[in-house]
Amino acid sequence: MFKKILIANRGEIACRVMRTAHRLGIATVAVYSDADANALHVTMADEAVHIGPAPARESYLCADKVIAAAQRTGAEAIHPGYGFLSENADFCRACAQANIVFIGPPTAAIEAMGSKSAAKTIMAKAQVPLVPGYHGDDQSPALLKQAAEDMGYPVLLKAVAGGGGKGMRQVWSADQFDEELAAAQRESLSSFGNSDMLVEKYLTQPRHVEIQVFCDSHGGGIYLAERDCSVQRRHQKVIEEAPAPNLPASLRVAMGEAAVQAASAIDYCGAGTVEFLLDTDGSFYFMEMNTRLQVEHPVTEMVTGLDLVEWQLRIAAGEPLPLQQAQVQVNGHAFEARIYAEDPAQDFMPATGLLGFLQTPVETDVVRVDTGVRQGDEVSIYYDPMIAKLIVWGENRQQALQRLALALTQYRIAGLTTNIDFLYNLATSAPFQAIELDTGFIERHQTLLLQPPAGDPEEQLGLAALYILLDRERVAQASANQSADPSSPWHSTGGWRMNEPHLQALALTYAGETWLISAEQVRNSSGSSYNLSFESGNRLNVSGQLNGDELSANSDGFKQKLVVAEHDGLFSAYGSSGAFQFATALPDTGEADAGGPGGNPRAPMNGRIVALLAEVGSAVAADAPLLVMEAMKMEYTIRASSAGSVTAFYYQPGELVDGAAELLNFEPEA
Ligand code: ADP
Repeated sequence: MFKKILIANRGEIACRVMRTAHRLGIATVAVYSDADANALHVTMADEAVHIGPAPARESYLCADKVIAAAQRTGAEAIHPGYGFLSENADFCRACAQANIVFIGPPTAAIEAMGSKSAAKTIMAKAQVPLVPGYHGDDQSPALLKQAAEDMGYPVLLKAVAGGGGKGMRQVWSADQFDEELAAAQRESLSSFGNSDMLVEKYLTQPRHVEIQVFCDSHGGGIYLAERDCSVQRRHQKVIEEAPAPNLPASLRVAMGEAAVQAASAIDYCGAGTVEFLLDTDGSFYFMEMNTRLQVEHPVTEMVTGLDLVEWQLRIAAGEPLPLQQAQVQVNGHAFEARIYAEDPAQDFMPATGLLGFLQTPVETDVVRVDTGVRQGDEVSIYYDPMIAKLIVWGENRQQALQRLALALTQYRIAGLTTNIDFLYNLATSAPFQAIELDTGFIERHQTLLLQPPAGDPEEQLGLAALYILLDRERVAQASANQSADPSSPWHSTGGWRMNEPHLQALALTYAGETWLISAEQVRNSSGSSYNLSFESGNRLNVSGQLNGDELSANSDGFKQKLVVAEHDGLFSAYGSSGAFQFATALPDTGEADAGGPGGNPRAPMNGRIVALLAEVGSAVAADAPLLVMEAMKMEYTIRASSAGSVTAFYYQPGELVDGAAELLNFEPEA
């Protein structure tokens, strides 16, 4: 076995490979760009070598720099992860020339599968079933169009050199063909430097089912069950599961054997994945073979109990396959959800930003988090916006799915937009639970999947208000503790007021609107609580404790724990039934002062002017009442923040005012 390996990658896959290497007693070398100097994968590695600026083209994609790093550190082998150099035949060849083991298949196998059309030719010879289509060398538009017409619309145009869903276009009728062909060719040329196309019959309701294969250098080859990756957006996977549900046993074997046949046809070695489209009638067709470890490999690990990276290392070191086909066992069910910095509502547009707050579910035997980031890290424009993979196991699909939903509520990120709510909607949706799987799933159920998280607004606002009120108490307490006379009544955080209830007005933004809440603090034998009143007239009694960012709340007898994170003025509250966001709208206090640092006093909320208590132009003392207004059936007194005088009132008794409106002009005493 190797003593030291280099991982030519970053992020979660680099960290994941290191976990296994360290468990096996293998030292690890990381490589990093300028953007990743303090990244998790660098911290985890035993050694790390800087290989250039942030853009991947100048760092992670530079074969010579990666090989030089291996030579400098004495690493005997390179694990390429996925993406970057993992399917680059030139890199594989360069490793061999430098006498470094490439932890992956032989160069020839990468080359054979590098072109989608060449791969189809090889597979046709090996009698692996193919999607009907044209994959020839003649690229004249007229011939491509004729091929489309012969097989019948709809068809799919695919970049021969493609990957990641780029250069792929559906064509539904002959009159669209020329336009779509030109677009696909342009996209392919700019992404892959080659505009060759293949034309395939477009299956309208297929499942994406792929087989994990492993071959060794002694002629052995087996398959390690299948994965269903049908839930996709823009032809890219979102949630994967193993095994594929509702797959007849005979079909499972047929697909497994076809996959091993495909691998043998190219003298494969190491970990590979053969992707198939499974049609509604049970026919399956070879789509492509990925000659590397897949992003979604953990679901296979969860159901087989095997470590696929360990297998890769053993096989690359020349060992035979650890198991025979008959010894492979599949136990239970596993899901992987890809957590992305992206906005599902904006057609899954990638997002960037700082992970201002990050809390992940606790890892157990049945919950696994593969990630390469920590709180405070940045999701930058330079790399893939995947933040993490959340993987769960259950005795059956239903249990695993329930665990996935719960773990998603425990995955808490603030600071940038993520797809977590979308994934939660997906995991809890009736059609996904009912195994209505095909590659059109997300598009078909878009409205259902994009709906905002459920939750009673007033219930959630009650929790938000409680948090703000307890936080104010905490701040007041802290300043009291610092003062010379902590027992001074001026620092009291209790609700005591002479002859009047202690009322506070809150204005919170929530779900895109401003909500006004009045809070009356009441003291009782077990501490204090707040009676909240909403504009609807509804009331809610809330109490609780705030410990760091953990809020233990009791609203009308319903107790729950939440974590509240603040980032850039936006609060995110995470509870067992999902997350919600809120912010304090200005102004946020009902005890508005005249002329504070913010200038003239403003209405704390929408309301009506009741009385003007000062005479225009006359001197008043600090704290003198100036104006009374009424909102939500309660009165608020606006007082002078210092000695001075009112030079104008902007409203008369009986008039309505909007929240935040300036009420009067106040001149403090010089
Ligand atoms: P890429 O390498 O760009 O990821 P693939 O060939 O792996 O492209 O295909 C990606 C996805 O595109 C598949 O999972 C499937 O959803 C869809 N797809 C590919 N070929 C077809 C086809 N002939 N009919 C219908 N959908 C297809």
